[in-house]
Amino acid sequence: MTSPVETIAQWQEEFAAIRRDIHAHPELGLEEHRTAALVAAKLREMGIEVHEGVGRTGVVGVIRNGNGRRIGLRADMDALPMEEETGLPHASTHKGRMHACGHDGHTTMLLAAARYLQQTRRFDGTVHLIFQPGEEGAGGALAMLEDGLFERFPCDEVYGLHNRPGMPVGQAGLRPGPMMAGVAFYDIVVQGRGGHGARPEATVDPVVAGSAIVGALQSVVARNVPAIERAVLSVTRFDAGNAYNVIPDRVRLGGTVRAFSRTMMELVEQRMRAIAEGVAAGFGASATLDFRVLTTPLVNDAGATEALAAAAAALGATDADFPAVMGGEDFAFMLEKVPGAYAMVGNGDTAEVHHPKFDFNDAAIPHGAGLLAAVVERQAPRV
Ligand SMILES: [Zn+2]
Ligand SMILES: [Zn+2]
Repeated sequence: MTSPVETIAQWQEEFAAIRRDIHAHPELGLEEHRTAALVAAKLREMGIEVHEGVGRTGVVGVIRNGNGRRIGLRADMDALPMEEETGLPHASTHKGRMHACGHDGHTTMLLAAARYLQQTRRFDGTVHLIFQPGEEGAGGALAMLEDGLFERFPCDEVYGLHNRPGMPVGQAGLRPGPMMAGVAFYDIVVQGRGGHGARPEATVDPVVAGSAIVGALQSVVARNVPAIERAVLSVTRFDAGNAYNVIPDRVRLGGTVRAFSRTMMELVEQRMRAIAEGVAAGFGASATLDFRVLTTPLVNDAGATEALAAAAAALGATDADFPAVMGGEDFAFMLEKVPGAYAMVGNGDTAEVHHPKFDFNDAAIPHGAGLLAAVVERQAPRV
């Protein structure tokens, strides 16, 4: 029996053309109208049941083939607000937008897996093909969940993947447990009382209070987060006054927090609030913290990770102890609802993701698509 990778490789030209078409027409999060229409049209051509507008621009395809397990396969569809510098024939035709994270490739891989599963039907169960909008900070996974994704399309397991520059094509990497960090952005506004730079005694200087807060925040990871946990708290913005002789009325600090569990995210937020408010009060100022969780930590289910790693190992080289990364991925919200796993798949020797010279490697299409198809055949075997 030929492997899914071999079968899908026979359609390489067709799917590479689809990938390049999506690449040339990148759309930002929750605005993926053309991409979603293209996905829906391709699924219909394959004879697959299609549901559009799930979580704004999300699309779900359904392949039913018996009463076995219900498997969700998820790909993201959105591009980034940046200018492409690849100079390729299929480069972006939309100014200031670019598929620099390879979501054009993920969408194409899931389409190729859909074609394979629909044609071969070597599984017993239901496959839900989840084309998610807005992964890059637009809240697309939550939008689909709030739209009843798993109530309308129940899944026993859900799988996703992301291309990885620098990893050879055909190779996969994943790990059980926390694999990608939860991500939060925050703002702290310190309100003092401005005045003349020569008469600080008549002011409540928010620059001094804000500076003390920046210093004190360094104690959160060092003194509150247990040493065996991993977390990052970075202050990356400090917006204060704009004159040499004016003490500003208020300053604004901002930055990012990363951690590998909800509990640690909450602990860091709690400590930040206490420090910001307490330190500011000590200076006679006041401070407010706005802490926004963009993605929850991505946690791979042990059983699902084993299944995905075994499927990957049957197709090629696999690193089942892939190191966790501090980057975030909003598929994590789906993994909070349904057990599943997420893998990195090799994109070969390309520029890094989010780089203006990045391009998804078409040679990876059959490998990623084949992996998604293979995990369905493994987890919902034909009886
Ligand atoms: Zn990205
Ligand atoms: Zn991405």
